[in-house]
Amino acid sequence: MTEIVPILIGDRWVVPDCDAFTPVHRPATGQIIARTPHCGTAQVEVAVQAAKAAFPSWSRTPAPERARVLFRYRELLESHFEELAQIICRENGKTLDEARGDVRRGVEVVELACGVGQLLKGEVLPELATGIDGMATREPVGICAGITPFNFPAMVPMWMYPLAIACGNCFLLKPSEKVPYTANRLAELFLEAGLPAGVLNVVHGSREVVEALCLHPEIAALSFVGSSPVARRVYELAGQTGKRCQAAGGAKNTLLVMPDAVDSGLLGEAAAADPTLKAVLQSAFGCAGQRCMAGSLLLGIADACDDLRDQVASAMDTMTLGDTLADDGVSMGPVIDGGSQQRLATSIGAAAKEMSLVRDGRAGVPPDGFFVGPTLLDHVRPEHDLFAQELFGPVLGLMRPGTLEEAIDWVNQIPYGNAATIFTHDGGAARTFAREVECGMVGINVGVPAPMALFSFSGWNQSFFGDLHVQGTEGVLFYTRQKTTLTRWQGGTTAFTGVGAKNR
Ligand code: NAD
Repeated sequence: MTEIVPILIGDRWVVPDCDAFTPVHRPATGQIIARTPHCGTAQVEVAVQAAKAAFPSWSRTPAPERARVLFRYRELLESHFEELAQIICRENGKTLDEARGDVRRGVEVVELACGVGQLLKGEVLPELATGIDGMATREPVGICAGITPFNFPAMVPMWMYPLAIACGNCFLLKPSEKVPYTANRLAELFLEAGLPAGVLNVVHGSREVVEALCLHPEIAALSFVGSSPVARRVYELAGQTGKRCQAAGGAKNTLLVMPDAVDSGLLGEAAAADPTLKAVLQSAFGCAGQRCMAGSLLLGIADACDDLRDQVASAMDTMTLGDTLADDGVSMGPVIDGGSQQRLATSIGAAAKEMSLVRDGRAGVPPDGFFVGPTLLDHVRPEHDLFAQELFGPVLGLMRPGTLEEAIDWVNQIPYGNAATIFTHDGGAARTFAREVECGMVGINVGVPAPMALFSFSGWNQSFFGDLHVQGTEGVLFYTRQKTTLTRWQGGTTAFTGVGAKNR
């Protein structure tokens, strides 16, 4: 019997009484390593009560004291950095370097949250009216919940709970059922750092527990990251109980390479080392393409396109696939599970009937585990399914717009709005692109323009439902609400007789 993943209620790890489970795989081998229990309303209720009990004391704890717990947490995350990266590799399959990046981006949010005293300083206007002072403060919203996807088991949960908790809230985390161990270890370390019982709780499961969180009347704010259909549903459900909600969804991101950025005739390792091609490959195939910022459409202008295709294909041939825990040198790991592997194989097969398949990721992959190799399809057009569909795998489609203007027009037909990148040496082209593309994150010679903790992660259109985004300044605003206090005191100045009074 495989282990059942425990949940965290208060400061106790318990195995919930559930009758449905999701298998947790080791994607690199296909082996089942645990079972994630499907919690429901009963476990959400107990977790909410634990959070409610912790809230009065935690929300009144002075900000510098809360920050001290976060500083200790940050130190523990650093000393357990490699252990966390290994846990991610085991249950998600990404390479060790990618896993380290996953943890590092999360630690950066904790570092932001360490400055909570500074972040929460309010505004004061003395003499707002005659004899009246005005003050606006940011107050915690209460009990918050976060629901996260499988692809960044550390970073995405840490987009949420460190800032929420630093701001004085209590939190219920519902990690992806496919990668539960990273979140459990992150929570364990927070308790070890001195976080009081009940401030952070972890419940596991799938649809039932998500709906219970969305509908619970005592949860005030909900953060969601995942696919767009679920993001939209969560946003709608959260609205039914008047919660504030930030729901980040899927994406279809573009990489436009202008002719001046294509260096002709590069092959193999030379192509893989070229800064533009390297950025394209990392964007398209990093984390096996399972990133909401992955560039999955490559646009080359007119005549430069053949050269671009040949060089990208040649650089792809230098990539290696495998189990990163067995071989630290592999450039790409597996996709998350058999369902994803099968779905990608079907999509590649369907696309190959409509366009040319330059590299086929279904061929020559390791026999065990859920591997799909880097795939390149040429001559994608806006009318093809592949144009606006998020495949979430290592599949890159090449498009051939005639001009920069046509490229921008095509980018703006995509219903999502996470990222668009341009590679060029031409400042004018870069400026036009950055100003005209309708998406929230723009890269200029940056393949994955994901903002780090100091900026908010600003998806648009079908990539985001809500108003205030995760992390950065908007993250602080999301997890707090404003209180304004107007004050009038009578007669204070006449009573002053102390030292220095005669000089006033
Ligand atoms: P997913 O939508 O399947 O799952 C996300 C979360 O929702 C999980 O916790 C899951 O348990 C829950 N869930 C799944 N189906 C549900 C349902 N029907 N009702 C209620 N809850 C449900 O996403 P995933 O496969 O885990 O992650 C990949 C997706 O996440 C991709 O679309 C990717 O683009 C997106 N993503 C977006 C961002 C972003 O910032 N925009 C970041 C990372 C991932």
